[in-house]
Amino acid sequence: MRRNFVAGNWKMNGSLESANALVQALVSSVGSNPSADVIICPPFIHLQGVAALVKGSGVSLGAQDLSDQEAGAFTGEVSGAMLKDVGCDYVIIGHSERRTLYGEDDALVSKKFVHALAEGLTPILCVGESLEERESGAMEAVIARQIDAVLSAAGVQALCDSVIAYEPVWAIGTGMTATPEQAQEVHAFIRGRIAAVDAAAAEGVRILYGGSANAANAATLFGQPDIDGGLIGGASLKAEDFLTICAAAA
Ligand code: PEP
Repeated sequence: MRRNFVAGNWKMNGSLESANALVQALVSSVGSNPSADVIICPPFIHLQGVAALVKGSGVSLGAQDLSDQEAGAFTGEVSGAMLKDVGCDYVIIGHSERRTLYGEDDALVSKKFVHALAEGLTPILCVGESLEERESGAMEAVIARQIDAVLSAAGVQALCDSVIAYEPVWAIGTGMTATPEQAQEVHAFIRGRIAAVDAAAAEGVRILYGGSANAANAATLFGQPDIDGGLIGGASLKAEDFLTICAAAA
């Protein structure tokens, strides 16, 4: 039985004050032993402060990105060791905004994935197709390419020990959620792709849905057999909505 998983991606939002208020509201409601894994991923600048607030609670900490390099002259970058040092256990890798706005390709995403694992972080690997790719019939080829790149760089067991997030690019921040059937179809495709390499490992990997998931649609999405929770953007910035989503995953 796979334990459900909900991660909040705050993106580049929040002041010190609003971050503290949001975390305090989450920590007091989630309790110390939630029935699903609950992770929040604030911007780098807030990680250390949030780490102190979530310590000992049932909420874990993740970053939104990391460098592919270990240390040195890489201005503006943050390494996996630095994230671990401030209390992160997870890191989002290959979010579509990184892929499309900052030119991250499969090779760089795979390098970041391997670097995260080497530092003891659990990657949350994002994959997903654009609307154009879906409409032209290239959806499965795109997802397969994104998964295969990490499979060959890190191996099947490493991929299955991480978390995968299927995030159709056309659904992120647009209010256009994939239907539960559309999402389930791709989740089953991803699991099947991994099962072709190692069937037992594929059964255990958690595959999240992301893309305009909210308090109203989360329960139906999470009710699909291959959807093991969500990567939540906008709705993770409102404590009440995010808590409702966490309850739907529990
Ligand atoms: C995301 O940023 O990963 C995301 C899924 O955003 P939203 O929920 O706002 O679509």
